[in-house]
Amino acid sequence: MSQPSSQLQDQTRKLRQQLQEAAHAYYVLDAPIMEDEVYDRLYRDLQAIEQDYPHLITPDSPTQRVGDKPAAQFTSVRHTIPLYSLDNAFTLEEFARWQERWQTRLEERITPEYICELKIDGSALALTYEDGVLVRGVTRGDGETGEEITPNVKTIRSIPLRLQGEKIPPRVEVRGEAFLPLETFERLNRERQENQDPPFANPRNAAAGTLRQLDPQIVAQRQLQFFAYTLYCPSDEGDRPFKTHQEALQRLQDLGFWVNPHRQRVQSLQEVQAYYEQWEQQRRELPYLTDGVVVKLNDIPLQERLGFTQKAPRWAIALKYPAEEVPTTVESVSFQV
Ligand code: NAD
Repeated sequence: MSQPSSQLQDQTRKLRQQLQEAAHAYYVLDAPIMEDEVYDRLYRDLQAIEQDYPHLITPDSPTQRVGDKPAAQFTSVRHTIPLYSLDNAFTLEEFARWQERWQTRLEERITPEYICELKIDGSALALTYEDGVLVRGVTRGDGETGEEITPNVKTIRSIPLRLQGEKIPPRVEVRGEAFLPLETFERLNRERQENQDPPFANPRNAAAGTLRQLDPQIVAQRQLQFFAYTLYCPSDEGDRPFKTHQEALQRLQDLGFWVNPHRQRVQSLQEVQAYYEQWEQQRRELPYLTDGVVVKLNDIPLQERLGFTQKAPRWAIALKYPAEEVPTTVESVSFQV
């Protein structure tokens, strides 16, 4: 392999630094300093260089890590199972390449069955329940360690403080997305402008910034909501006493969570494409922002065989929509789940 020129090495260092500064502003300060499309373009430039010259990869490269370190004002909590990000595809060709990648890791050929979900533009949370009672809420942080924000999480009405139903396992961990409905986001930004505070760049930064407020009363006023999408029930039988993701989502709903109703089981690339195209249009009618769809292998034993890379599961991918302005007005908000 040829050696990178000193100019390319300089460019790599510069890209890394720019992305590190932007990631810190975005994830820790909740105040982005560049547009997402610019960040994504620089990120892909760095990825392309690192792919050609793997020895230029450093452990702190933004391509090698999730989010950023937890902020110092919160207690850091280590996730029992990493809460990583998702790999992205921007086209169906990239999606097909991802499908080929996980397939080649297996000895046998598999006809995939996927669950397609909306990608909610919010902030990931991990919730722990002991004997059915919510005891801890933690942000994603850097994927290994997050920030403990339990009092803030308790203000979110769509997060049950006690799980519903019978035969609740002694320990349950639920993951999902906290988000600000568009109407609430717009109200919040109007109020901030009236108070001469800088407006939030988008609902996602507003949700992340709200979750990390030190005063739970402010969090309560902002009316965050939560959609659940992952369930772990650590027990003698392992973490996942169900065979499919579809069953896990149903179980989450039975336990009292909101699970996004627009999920769909699909079995071909054409069906993935149809789901993506449908929601690329219909998302404008939703009272919350989605920035793509997430496609997950339905078979949980298969998910477990495939495992994780150092920043994302191998069994799921986000298929992102092209960038678009946030709409300025929305119709009434009503959640039917
Ligand atoms: P991501 O937003 O692309 O996707 C991963 C996240 O999707 C998960 O952590 C989870 O919170 C969320 N999610 C939503 N719905 C989900 C579902 N149904 N199932 C599973 N997960 C779901 O990845 P990321 O690492 O959080 O952030 C990368 C994004 O952040 C990029 O788009 C980038 O543009 C942006 N960013 C921007 C800047 C900037 O300076 N503007 C800096 C850093 C990152």
